Amino acid sequence: MGLLSQGSPLSWEETKRHADHVRRHGILQFLHIYHAVKERHKDVLKWGDEVEYMLVAFDHQNKKVRVVLKGEEVLEALQEKGERKNPNHPTLWRPEYGSYMIEGTPGQPYGGTMSEFNTVEDNMRKRRQEASSLLKENEALCTITSFPRLGCPGFTVPDCKPTPVEGGASKSLFFPDEAINKHPRFSTLTRNIRHRRGEKVVINVPIFKDKNTPFPFIETFPQDDEAVQAAQPNHIYMDAMGFGMGNCCLQVTFQACSISEARYLYDQLATICPIVMALSASSPFYRGYVSDIDCRWGVISASVDDRTREERGLEPLKNNSYRISKSRYDSIDSYLSKCGEKYNDIDLTKDKEIYERLLKEGIDHLLAQHIAHLFIRDPLTLFEEKIHLDDANESDHFENIQSTNWQTMRFKPPPPNSDIGWRVEFRPMEVQLTDFENSAYVVFVVLLTRVILSYKLDFLIPLSKVDENMKVAQKRDAVLHGLFYFRKDICKGGTAVVDGCSTAQNGTETDTEEFTLMSIDTIINGKEGVFPGLIPILNSYLENMEVDVDTRCSILNYLKLIKKRASGELMTAARWMRDFVAKHPDYKQDSVITDEINYSLLLECNNIANELSECPELLGSGFKKAKYSGNKTGSSS
Ligand code: GLU
Ligand code: MG
Repeated sequence: MGLLSQGSPLSWEETKRHADHVRRHGILQFLHIYHAVKERHKDVLKWGDEVEYMLVAFDHQNKKVRVVLKGEEVLEALQEKGERKNPNHPTLWRPEYGSYMIEGTPGQPYGGTMSEFNTVEDNMRKRRQEASSLLKENEALCTITSFPRLGCPGFTVPDCKPTPVEGGASKSLFFPDEAINKHPRFSTLTRNIRHRRGEKVVINVPIFKDKNTPFPFIETFPQDDEAVQAAQPNHIYMDAMGFGMGNCCLQVTFQACSISEARYLYDQLATICPIVMALSASSPFYRGYVSDIDCRWGVISASVDDRTREERGLEPLKNNSYRISKSRYDSIDSYLSKCGEKYNDIDLTKDKEIYERLLKEGIDHLLAQHIAHLFIRDPLTLFEEKIHLDDANESDHFENIQSTNWQTMRFKPPPPNSDIGWRVEFRPMEVQLTDFENSAYVVFVVLLTRVILSYKLDFLIPLSKVDENMKVAQKRDAVLHGLFYFRKDICKGGTAVVDGCSTAQNGTETDTEEFTLMSIDTIINGKEGVFPGLIPILNSYLENMEVDVDTRCSILNYLKLIKKRASGELMTAARWMRDFVAKHPDYKQDSVITDEINYSLLLECNNIANELSECPELLGSGFKKAKYSGNKTGSSS
């Protein structure tokens, strides 16, 4: 989750004193990059995925599963055996927020040829195998989005107690600082978010009301005034960054041919975020309870919400400059391409000085306002050794602000003096249990970018509608029951949209809306007379492409999974987990995930991931069988 500097982190008070310096130089750094590479056109399509993993340990005797706080050690060993020995090593490993997490990516980005779609799953398997081989017999590498008993007593190995006292990084009642990655960036982020906000972060997730769930559901925290104030009835209360950033996701980054193609893709994919997030839903449980949401998004959003009471609109502005309507982790607030301009209907708070400065430097309104909007935020971490930089050749200050704006999409300028092109990152997806599923979601999204570019598709709708979709997408079973605003006519009929962006055909918006409410099934699979469906479009694209038989077969399998998830023929992981818990003998229909339930659930997840259990409800049957089955934890259920 971003740049790691070594050195001595500054406190919030000190960081704040340098905030204007960081912003000013961040903008200079951006300008250097922009002017150096704005005209670059030669870049080719490349892309790569990022998978975040959790390390867990099973205690078979006591039927418990816990997260293992040794991500740093496992990461070190993986890098030592991998990239440091061999620059062409097929995998790359990076730290993540939790000290029980690691992140893996392919060693080299994938290129533009179709056959590369057939190597994604193998690479993910390799990652799972590599990391699993460093674990003990009873440990496992899991791709689950949220650990169901995160923050419950004794949820870590080794056992660590939370320290809700002055001096702690998160001061959480539930989440010990030891569960935060040991690199100082992460605890500093945690502490500085809390200090900037002026109080602990507040996360309230609606509880799922089952037959025996107390109503109203009220937890009391007599020892903590902030918790007493913050905890809402009928909600699961959480109070630490770790409850959000300690979750895992699946991301895809694309390199575009040019800045204008990157801006176009950024916009188009932004409309797809809520749809694919709902399709990937896999996080129904928080702090040992069954919740009423299926996706992590709002939880992370609240977990890093550093806005002050003034900025949140709870007090008149006195010490702060703006009211800010969203957390730093949230959906995007403005489109970047010319075609997006007319759909920019969200009030955009921006740093006026920065905006004017960027305009004066020849940057267009849309890009200038995008950057000036990101730059309303303060830097959250700063290292003493990294205050004075060479703005022409470094970009740490720009990246400081950029990489702590965790939005659904990220528009990424090239690093200075590199041959990397303009990139966009697709960030909403939840991670899936198996490499097969993760490959399916990744390939689906990458293929979608191909058809968007080849057929010049246009998915844009007013951005406020995309925000409404984000809310719907997180609800329980949104895939089956949610209705989403989606554009009716996505075919612009061959007008050159990337550079010139035609507006010719939409002079008559008055009589009919360009968008309407659709189910995910309609959006993905199509509906006669309403919408062609993304999968049918991808299928027709594939028919016209030269693809070897094996690759085609893999791709069709991936698309079949997506298609069936969308139609409801297959379950999302969230639905499957809910049903698993509901049927568990230890479940009392009271929305409580006990240690034993958690143990059975994660054991089954691990067996599915390692192909020791089949799970037709989730995966269907008849998909290509895997070659690897390597985890030793085995099927002791
Ligand atoms: N783990 C975060 C998520 O689930 C993303 C962190 C990152 O940006 O890498 O969205
Ligand atoms: Mg990450």
